[in-house]
Amino acid sequence: MPSQTLTLNSGHQMPLVGHGLWKIANDAVADHVYNAIKAGYRLFDGACDYGNEIEAGQGVARAIKEGIVKREELFIVSKLWNTFHEKERVEQLCQKQLKDWGVEYFDLFIMHFPIALEYVDPAVRYPPGWFYDGVTPTDIRLSKATIHETWEAMEALVDGGLARSIGISNFNCASILDLLRYARIRPATLQIEHHPYLVQQPLVKFAQKEGITITAYSSFGPQGYVEMDLEHAVKTPHLFQHPVIKEIAAAHKKGTPQVLLRWATQQGIAVIPKSDTLPMLLENLDAKEFDLTEEEIKKIDALDQGLRFNDPWIKGGWVGVW
Ligand code: NAD
Repeated sequence: MPSQTLTLNSGHQMPLVGHGLWKIANDAVADHVYNAIKAGYRLFDGACDYGNEIEAGQGVARAIKEGIVKREELFIVSKLWNTFHEKERVEQLCQKQLKDWGVEYFDLFIMHFPIALEYVDPAVRYPPGWFYDGVTPTDIRLSKATIHETWEAMEALVDGGLARSIGISNFNCASILDLLRYARIRPATLQIEHHPYLVQQPLVKFAQKEGITITAYSSFGPQGYVEMDLEHAVKTPHLFQHPVIKEIAAAHKKGTPQVLLRWATQQGIAVIPKSDTLPMLLENLDAKEFDLTEEEIKKIDALDQGLRFNDPWIKGGWVGVW
C-alpha cells in the first residue's frame, strides 16, 4: 500500500490527503470537521482568511472529547494572513489563531502569500481580507515588511513551540531561492494551486529537489471557483467530465475526483480537497489505494494550459504580483 504520509524536512509526518476548510460556512464547519475526523481525516487546512477557525476548533474539541481522536493524531494547518507580516504581528496573530482553534500548537503554519499588506486591527475587522477598508477593490495598502522579516518571525514560532513546522504558499521559484539564502529553518511545504490545467512542473521539481514538499490546492481545477461564480472557471470545461480523466477513471473503476487526487499523490504531492458531503469526504479519502500507469500520468500532465484560478489580479484587478 502506498505511504499515507509525507516526511517533512522538520522530521514530522504530514498526511498525504487532508481536508481544506476554505468556503465552508461558519454554521457548518464544526459538524463538518467532526464528521471528517470520524470518516478518518487527520489533516485540516485552515487559515485566518477563511474566517471559520473558531468553529473548526469546536469540531476538533468534540472529536477529542468523545475519544475519537487524540490531539497528537491530528495535523492542524493554519496560515499567516498578509496584514500580519510585520515581525511584531506574527506571533500576535498565531497566538490568536491557536486560541480560536483551542489548541496549543499548529502542526504547520504557512505564510499565505508573499504579499505584505498594511495592518488591520482584528478589533476593527477579522479576517481583514485584501482591501484596507474591507470593501473597495482599489483600497490596497502595502506594508513595508519584507519576506525575510516575516520568515524570521515565523522561525521564532518553531523555537517557541507554537508551530512544529512552517511553510509557504503561492511562492514562485525566484522567491523561494531568495528565501533559502537566509532561512535558518527551511520551509517544510510549498502550498500551490495544482491541477491538470496548472501543472507547474518546474516549480514542483525545484521545490522537491530542495527538500520542500508540495501541497496541492484546488486539485479539481475550476470546480472550487465555480461556487464563487468566477467567470473563467464557469467557462472552463470541468475536469470531472474531461474525456481523458473519465477514460482513466473507467479503467480503474474509480471516480474522476479520485483520479485527479491520485495523479498528485502518486507523485508525492499532498492534497487537501474541500468536500461538501459525506460521500465526497469518503470518496476523496479513498483516493490512495490504486496506482495510475506512467502513461496515464503523462496523459494527464499533457492537459496543462497554465490556467490559474486563484489570482488576486482577477479578484481585485489590482496587482499582478507574480
Ligand atoms: P477543490 O479543488 O477542493 O474543489 C472543491 C469543489 O469540488 C467543491 O465545489 C466540492 O463540492 C467539489 N468536490 C469535492 N469533492 C468532490 C467529489 N468527490 N465529487 C464531486 N465534487 C466534489 O477546491 P478548493 O476549495 O479551491 O481547494 C481546496 C482547499 O485548498 C481549500 O479548501 C483550502 O483549504 C486550500 N486553498 C488554499 C489556497 C492558498 O492560497 N493557499 C487557495 C485556495 C485553496
